[in-house]
Amino acid sequence: MNVTIDFGGTNIKIGLVRDGEVFAKTSIPANSGEGMLARLPEAEQAVRGLLGSSGTDLAQCKGIGLALPGVVDPVRKTLVSIKEKYTDALGFDFAGWTERAFGLPPVVENDARAALFGEVAYGAAKGERDAVLVIFGTGIGTAAMMDGRIVRGRHDQAGILGGHLTTDVYGQACACGNAGCLEAQASHWALPIRAAKRPGFAASRLAQRTDWGYEAVMQDTLAGDEFADRLLGDLIVHWSAGIVNLLNAYDPEVVVLSGGLMKSADALLPRLTERILASAWLSWGHPRFVVAEDPETSVLLGMSYLAEQNGCHL
Ligand SMILES: [Zn+2]
Repeated sequence: MNVTIDFGGTNIKIGLVRDGEVFAKTSIPANSGEGMLARLPEAEQAVRGLLGSSGTDLAQCKGIGLALPGVVDPVRKTLVSIKEKYTDALGFDFAGWTERAFGLPPVVENDARAALFGEVAYGAAKGERDAVLVIFGTGIGTAAMMDGRIVRGRHDQAGILGGHLTTDVYGQACACGNAGCLEAQASHWALPIRAAKRPGFAASRLAQRTDWGYEAVMQDTLAGDEFADRLLGDLIVHWSAGIVNLLNAYDPEVVVLSGGLMKSADALLPRLTERILASAWLSWGHPRFVVAEDPETSVLLGMSYLAEQNGCHL
């Protein structure tokens, strides 16, 4: 059994995993404006509460898996680089914390890589050796596996920065310092900014909403709103460009699509994959596009898988 924690930007999700199954889970608000370190005592309490309520204890745990956003060094078990949120955790000694708090050794990994490990070990891409994963969350996270090995690169950055592939060189400023990144053009956080600049926004259904993102665009499109439909068409141009870049870079057999946007997979996927397949250079056929069955738990399953390997995946 392993303890797993996913430090997301909105919620910190905590799960107990045994035999590839999350058998107990809870979450606490991230309050990421206050930083990550301020949340650790409450995260520790939540872990202890979850163990107690599920009738287990730390003595039964083999390890603890921590999934972090940003660039992670899994050998030194630190967060190396992150933009905007959670910058207080840069260089933090996570191993020291988990030893003190739980008496358990940690594995630490980027959250999108963790999700890909989870999908390949237990989920929608089970058994695959060549896969890419795209998570449409607040931002857009990616990860890649080639010939059974996670793509990591010299500085732990390879594969995970797909949200920062450029899809419009004259585009929107991004937090990473670039402009026109996939994430700046077409992520959840970018949608209100992009939409407000388009003609016809003021009269659209979206303009009447206060807090909206992927789901609202899909709902209004399906309800026949022309502005939302044109906006969705533009988003699909960027999403498909980003995914074609990933196909060209990593030559996957399967593309795992995950995150909140995939609640609308039935309506979205035909349009998205049609454009991808029309744009990609594919000499051998085409990759399978699969939707993560449970994006909430794939990160936790991946971290448990890594804890089982005890860092041997490196
Ligand atoms: Zn960027």
